[in-house]
Amino acid sequence: MPQPVALVTGITGQTGGYLAEQLIAAGWTVHGLVRDADAAEADFVARTPEAVLHSGDLGDADRTSAVIAEIAPDAVFNLGGVSSVAASWNDPVEAARVTGFGVAALLEAAWAVQESAGRRVAFVQASSAELFGAATQVPQNEDTPIRPVNPYGAAKAAAHHLVAVYRDRGLAASNGILFNHESPRRPPTFVTRKITQTVARIAAGQADELVLGNLDAVRDWGWAPDYARALSLAATGEPGDYVIATGQAHSVRDFVEASFTAVGIDDWEPLVRQDAAFLRPADAPVLVGDASKARRVLGWQPSVDFAGMVAAMTDADLEEARNPASRT
Ligand code: GDP
Repeated sequence: MPQPVALVTGITGQTGGYLAEQLIAAGWTVHGLVRDADAAEADFVARTPEAVLHSGDLGDADRTSAVIAEIAPDAVFNLGGVSSVAASWNDPVEAARVTGFGVAALLEAAWAVQESAGRRVAFVQASSAELFGAATQVPQNEDTPIRPVNPYGAAKAAAHHLVAVYRDRGLAASNGILFNHESPRRPPTFVTRKITQTVARIAAGQADELVLGNLDAVRDWGWAPDYARALSLAATGEPGDYVIATGQAHSVRDFVEASFTAVGIDDWEPLVRQDAAFLRPADAPVLVGDASKARRVLGWQPSVDFAGMVAAMTDADLEEARNPASRT
């Protein structure tokens, strides 16, 4: 294929940014859809000037369809939308409109390109472990019942099913069911980055303590660039639903300990305080993914383990604490 063309929605986000970099490095022409007044756009453009950006809201079906018709991409990667459970509770209608049904227009437009150009158009949806919500089965795989417990999960479930509908119709459409994925570019509203940023500041003498909610909460945390790579493997591989996860469960406490270890602080317990303000009314049960299908069919596997990921994030934050101009 001469210089394949991709459209990435959510390109200014953590995983969208890594995906754009990886596709460009692999010889793709990369286009991105960006909302007006996206605060992350300037950083993205500085890091990835090769990408061609188009303004548009995922909830604006006419606009997204027009962008896809114009670009006629070989692959559409949908990583955009309301990006957290908390945001979806603040505006469930927006979550349904953008994260849920925005994907219908993207799929229909990708289908139209495939029909008129007479060539494969791949569609890869960033689906989410939040689909499984109240899962009673651990670990979760592609056959685990979809039972979302919040508007974010419900919107992602609608999108997930639409992707499967278009796959049945003949589009090379895949869902990457992404478990938590982290990096130095994760916003500090997520616990991982909050921990590494604060631990780095403590190590640099800029903070005194780390204040958290539930230290016993458990997640399957992976390295975001590995998850971006899984999405591009899905675009070129066999269409399907793929759980993307490490299969390893760690508690928030494990994460804290690993981060303090990375800065050489062993006696960390006195530096951590729990505050009920950060507790959640209900925490999701243990979400741990079984990615054996992605390993088998796509040849995907994580390249960075838990300790390596925490150390990389903590090191980047230490560098930033000491030299604020060094953002990754
Ligand atoms: P999520 O999996 O998308 O909800 O990712 P988060 O990083 O926001 O939360 C992961 C887990 O960390 C949840 O179970 C939280 O209850 C727990 N947690 C404990 N302390 C904190 C905190 O101070 N901030 C956040 N965001 N989460 C915390």
